[in-house]
Amino acid sequence: MTIKTINNIPLLGFAAYSGTGKTTLLEALLPKLTATGLKIGVLKHAHHNFDVDKPGKDSYRLRKAGASQMLISSRYRHALMTETPEEEANFEHLLSRFDHKALDVILVEGCKNIAFPKIELNRKELSKPWLHPSDENIIAIASDSVLDVPLPTMDINDLDAISQFIIEYLSPAGKTEAPASCCDTLSPALLSVKQGQQKILEAVSSAAMTENVELMSAYGRVLAQDIVSPINVPAYTNSAMDGFALRAEDLPTENNGQQQFDVVASIMAGHAFDGTLQQGQAAQIMTGAPMPKGADTVVMREQATHANSKVSFGNAAITPGQNVRQAGEDLAIGQSVFEKGTLIEAPELGMIGSLGFGQVEVKRKLNVAVFSTGDEVQAPGSPLKANSIYDSNRFTIMAMLQKLGCDIVDLGILEDDESVMEAAILNASESADLVVTSGGVSVGDADFIKDVLEKSGNVDFWRINMRPGRPLAFGHINGKPFFGLPGNPVAVMVSFINFVEPAIRKMQGIQQFLPFKASAVAEMPLRSRQGRTEFSRGVYTMNEETGQLTVRTTGKQGSGILRSMSEANCLIEISPNIDTVKTGESVTIVPLQGRI
Ligand code: AMP
Ligand code: MG
Repeated sequence: MTIKTINNIPLLGFAAYSGTGKTTLLEALLPKLTATGLKIGVLKHAHHNFDVDKPGKDSYRLRKAGASQMLISSRYRHALMTETPEEEANFEHLLSRFDHKALDVILVEGCKNIAFPKIELNRKELSKPWLHPSDENIIAIASDSVLDVPLPTMDINDLDAISQFIIEYLSPAGKTEAPASCCDTLSPALLSVKQGQQKILEAVSSAAMTENVELMSAYGRVLAQDIVSPINVPAYTNSAMDGFALRAEDLPTENNGQQQFDVVASIMAGHAFDGTLQQGQAAQIMTGAPMPKGADTVVMREQATHANSKVSFGNAAITPGQNVRQAGEDLAIGQSVFEKGTLIEAPELGMIGSLGFGQVEVKRKLNVAVFSTGDEVQAPGSPLKANSIYDSNRFTIMAMLQKLGCDIVDLGILEDDESVMEAAILNASESADLVVTSGGVSVGDADFIKDVLEKSGNVDFWRINMRPGRPLAFGHINGKPFFGLPGNPVAVMVSFINFVEPAIRKMQGIQQFLPFKASAVAEMPLRSRQGRTEFSRGVYTMNEETGQLTVRTTGKQGSGILRSMSEANCLIEISPNIDTVKTGESVTIVPLQGRI
C-alpha cells in the first residue's frame, strides 16, 4: 500500500540517486514553501551511521552511559534521540514521531524504495537510470531532460515551478487530483520481506481439524493435544551402568575400595531381585535393571575385582548414590511434556512412545493444490516442443510441500488463458486448504492470474523489496489462502521459503516458527542494493582452525539458474540497510538443510 498521508498530513518525497542534489534543492525550496505559510516537517534518511551529538556534550555522555532514549530540550528546540541497535526503525514508525498537529506536510528526502508519493529528480550529467518507469509512486519529474511521459514534468532548475507544483499538490483541489497511486493492480504495493511475512501471517490461521493417528504416522505432524506424562520416567529406580549395586552405608570411610562384598545376586534388565540387600552384600547388575531393595549406589564393572562370589573395588572413588537413575527423575507422573502446537520430530516421537502412547492426536494434514502456469511450460516426459521449456517449478514446490508434511494435489500446467485459469483456481480452492501457483504474476502481457483473481477472490499483488522474488500475489479465494509465486525457478524457491513455509507452519498449528539463521564471514564481496533484501545462494563452511563460519556465493545469481539452489547450502540474506558486503564482513545466512 502506498502511504499517502499520516494522520491526514500528506507525504511528499524527493527520489533521486545520490549526487543529484536533493538536499540542496530542498534547502532552496523550503523558504519558498514556508513563505506561503506552510508548516513543513522533513524526514531525511541517512544511509550511514550518523550522530547528531558531539562527544563531550551532556546529552552525548548520558546516551553513552546507557539512555536508550535521550530527550534534550531548551527554550528554542528539543530533540529526541532514540538508539536502535537492533534494526532501523521502519518508515511508518518514523513518520509517527512528528507532531502532526503542527504540520501541513512532511517532505521526505531519500527512502526511494518505499511506497509514498514522490517527485523524481534527475540530472543528465549523472547518467543515472530513470526511476519512474518502475516506480508508480512517482507523481512528477523534475529534470533537465526533455521527456515524453504521462506525468507532470518540471525543469529541475526552476524552483518556482517546483514549489508551485507542491503547493497545488497540497491544496484541497490538488489533493483530489493527485494521481491515485494505491489500491489498483497497476501500482501494487511495495513491501519489505518482513511486512509481507507479517501480512501473510495475520491473514492465515491454524486449521481446526485434528485426527488420532498411530504413533509412527505422527512423525512430522503437529500435536493437537498436550502431552502429560501418565507415568514416572524412569518408572522404577535402576542402574545407569553395568556393575555392582551396594549400600553406601557399608563403605568404610577410608580406603573403601578394600572392602569385600558378598555377591548375592545377578540382576538383568527386565528382571528384578526380590530380596533386600543386607549389610556387606552386593548384587551384580546390568544397565537398566531395577535396583535391589536396600541398595543405593552402583560401582561400574571396570572398577571391580570379582571372583568367587566376592567383589572389591581397589582404590576407586565411590560417591554414595552414584550411577543410579531415580524413578521419575526424567519425568514425574502428571508433568507436562509437550504442548499442542509442537512439531513431532524424532526425539518427540521417541518421548511420546516412552510414555506409552500408542496413538496421538495431531492436526490434520494440509491439502495443498499446486499448478504451474504458462503457454511455454511443458510437462517433462515427452520431447520438448518448439518455444517451450520443461516445468521445474511444480516439482520444487511439491517437494518442499512434501518436506513440510502436506498432502499434495498436483493440478499440472495451466495455459495462459483467463477462463481456464479461473475455472481451475476456483475448483482447486473448493477442496484444498491452500492453493499455490507459479508464474503469471508479473506485469507481462500474459500475466492473467491478476485478472482472474480480481474477479473471483480477494488477492493483493505485491512487489516485495527483495531479489529474487519481487512479484508475489497473496490473498484468499473461496476463503482459502492463495499464493501466486513468481515464474523464475529460483524466485519460486526463495519466495516459498520466505512466505509460503511460515504460512504453512502457522496453518499447521505450530505456535512460533522461527527458521534458524546464523552469522558467517564473507569470503568475497557480496553485491546488494540498499533498500532491498538480497538472497544470494551461498555455500557456508566452517574454518577448521578458527571454528568460524565463512560463506561464498555459488557464482552466477540469475533468478532462472536453479543449479545455484542445488549447489547452495544456505541463502545469504543481505538486509535492506546494507549496500555491498566487503570481504571479511559478517552476513546473515539461512541454512537450507532440512528445508528444501
Ligand atoms: P512469468 O512470471 O510467468 O512471466 O515467468 C517468468 C519466467 O519464469 C519465464 O521465463 C517463464 O518461462 C519461467 N517459468 C514460468 N513458469 C515456469 C515453470 N513452471 N518452470 C520453469 N520456468 C518457469
Ligand atoms: Mg508466464
